[in-house]
Order: sequence, then C-alpha cells, then structure tokens
Amino acid sequence: MSCATLATGLLDLDVARARLIAAAEPLTGEEHVPLAQAAGRVLARDVVAQLDMPGIDNSAMDGYALRLAELVAAGETGLPVALRVPAGAGVTTLPEGGCARIFTGAPVPEGADCVVPQERVTRDAAQRIRVAGEALPGANVRRRGEEYRAGERLLPAGTLLDAAALAMLASQGIAEVALRPRLRVALLSTGDELIEPGIPYESGRVYNSNRVMLQALLAQAHCEVIDLGIVADTPAALHDALVCARDGADLVLCTGGVSVGEEDHVRPVLEQLGGLVFHGVAIKPGKPFAFGYLDDGTPEGVPLIGLPGNPVASLVSWQLLALPFVHGCQGRTVGPLERFPVRAGFARRGAPGRTELLRVVLDWQGGHPVAHLAGGQGSHMLRAASQAHGYLLMAADNDVEEGHDYPYLPGGQFLV
Ligand code: AMP
Ligand code: MG
Repeated sequence: MSCATLATGLLDLDVARARLIAAAEPLTGEEHVPLAQAAGRVLARDVVAQLDMPGIDNSAMDGYALRLAELVAAGETGLPVALRVPAGAGVTTLPEGGCARIFTGAPVPEGADCVVPQERVTRDAAQRIRVAGEALPGANVRRRGEEYRAGERLLPAGTLLDAAALAMLASQGIAEVALRPRLRVALLSTGDELIEPGIPYESGRVYNSNRVMLQALLAQAHCEVIDLGIVADTPAALHDALVCARDGADLVLCTGGVSVGEEDHVRPVLEQLGGLVFHGVAIKPGKPFAFGYLDDGTPEGVPLIGLPGNPVASLVSWQLLALPFVHGCQGRTVGPLERFPVRAGFARRGAPGRTELLRVVLDWQGGHPVAHLAGGQGSHMLRAASQAHGYLLMAADNDVEEGHDYPYLPGGQFLV
C-alpha cells in the first residue's frame, strides 16, 4: 500500500473517517482464549456449529405431550398420564393411549406430536387429563435443528463477542475461541501545564483529564494500553517519547500539541520521524487531529493518531475518528455512524466551516425525543460531555432552529 497523499486544509468528517477506516490494517495472528475472558474481543476465525440446535425435539412449555388423534378419540374420558419427563431426561417413547407430563426443555417422547400447556389442562383424581380449547399438531414442540444445523456458520471472523454471542457459543459446548490479538496502544499526554490528579493544585497548571479518559476508552475498546505518561512541550522530548512509543506498539495515541501554535510539536516531529497523512478535520470540537506513520511514513510504519488537547475535542475525535480505526485494526467490520432525526428544543448559531457535534440530552416526556443542550459547549467543558446522551450533528454554517429535526448520533454506539 502506498502512503496516502497529504491533504491540504481541513478534511470533511466523512472523508477523514473513510480514510482512517481504509487505512486500518487488521492485526494478524490469533490467541486461544477461554469463553469467560472473551467478552468484547474479536473472533479470528469463523465459528461453525458442532451440534444441531436444538439437539433434540423438546418441549417449549410445562405441560403434557400427547398424540392428537388419541386426545380426540378419548373425548370426555380424557387421557391417562403414563409418563413423567423432566428436563435432562433421556429420550422416551409415549405409551399407546397415554400422555406424558413434561417440562420446558425436556425431550418430547417419541410418538408424541403435540405439547399442550398446563394452563389449559385439568387433571382429575384418576390422573386423566382433559384439554380446553384447540390443540394443533407440532404445537409447543421445538424441533431438532429448527434453528440451525451442525456444519452451518454461526459467526464470521471479525465478529465482536457480546453477551448473546458468548451465550450461543456456550450453548454449543464451546469452551475456548480463537481471537485476534489485542491492539497494543501507546498513550502519551503532551503539555508542560499538565499535572496529575492527586497533586496539589497550582495556579496555571491543568489536571490531566485526557489520560484517564483515554485509558478508559481504550479499555472499553479492549486495547492493551502502554501508558507513557506526560511528555514535555519540546521537539526533543516528543521525538524521544515517540521513538520509545513506537517500539512494541501497534498504534501510538497522543493528545495535545496537534494544532499549529509554537508549542505544538506533534505535526513537525511526526513529519521528521515518519510522515503525516492528514492534519485537521472540519469538526467542532475536534479540529486539531493528526494521522500519520512513524518510521518511514508509510503504512509499514507504526500508525500515530494525534488527538486534540481540549478534553471534549479529544473525546469526540476519539469516538468519530480514532475508534473506527482501532476497530478496523482489530479486524472488525466498521459500519456507518448510527444517526436518526431528532427535534431540537433550542436555537443556536451554526459553526462557520465546520460540522458541529452539540452535546445534547434527549427529553422523551412528550412521547418522542426532543434534544436540549447538555450544558456549555466549549471544547474544554467536560460537564456537558459527561451528561450528554449523544450528539446533534449540525452541518457547517447552518443555524439550529428550534422545532426542526437534525441528525442525532446516539452515544451508546461508541461503547460497543
Ligand atoms: P493543545 O492542543 O496542546 O494546544 O491544548 C489545548 C488545550 O487543552 C489547552 O488548554 C491545554 O491545557 C488543554 N489540554 C491539553 N492536554 C490536556 C490534557 N491531557 N488534559 C486536560 N487538558 C489538556
Ligand atoms: Mg499543549
């Protein structure tokens, strides 16, 4: 693959996203992991069913298994209960002229063609049953293989294992799965002003918010974090930190110093150490964003993503840009952003030249969602970001008009 051409000016959000997704090279190799430790990880291989599902004809209800024709023939006399079949019992045969007391999940006796739920059955002192209402052939019987057959593909390689997928693998008796390796991400915070929480506050210093935020986001994305702490705002310090970071990492992620000020060294040092692919995305917050490669500046090098220093800008550009790249490197298929129209409950001036992602909360009291600003919208204002349900997406230069619909990006999509 050749190095992408250097873009000039700010990139459109969708273009920047598409370029990152296209640039993501899935990690090779696999590791075998017990099911209990596989949540949130990505399958390295297709999983094929080993057993029919269900494995036997079994009852969907607590009730009585019977032959319909015998029920009809018995009429008011009723059918005698001749068998009792709990879940876990072996396969039995239904005696002629009798029915079986049966429980959910228990094997339907051979010869029975219907299960009648217990709620519709009366049982007399002589242990004969009568059924209220109609009974249909095949009712309440889960047929062997009706969901899928042994040999069918259950999950393709690249699937993220969520709770339901893990449960399905367990239902097949699978105890261990072949997974993609974890992505190793070196994390750096740049800024001479930064101090760590726990240190007494000094006027003019800034507590490092991005470090713990990105540690959490990387953990949510099931990455292995190599935390390199705070780097001073000098080209030499950043150079040395990036040289150290690229060893043993699949991706280098840094925050701050990505703009074009005199104290912003990420871009020049990246150009010196490797190559910049693009810089600057037309979103608010999140404009200062750098993507490139360390080593030789080609995709054979270690990719570097430089996120903005302002914490909300850092969060938004992680969610919209860095996360799809990470997912691509993990071998996941990356879909388009989930969005649907939501009414604005406020008016606001649009952002010149940039798509704006307003942090909003949804009010459902009227039966349909109405978006309200979650609080101050500055790119440093974490309170609104911490309370928002998602983003209202405003096209560049467009004012928000109260009562009009705009695309809404639910925040939950960035958690999976
Ligand atoms: P920069 O992109 O380095 O110019 O930083 C932009 C703003 O974000 C400045 O106000 C920085 O102090 C602030 N900032 C940078 N890094 C962090 C961080 N890790 N945590 C909190 N604020 C930061
Ligand atoms: Mg800085």
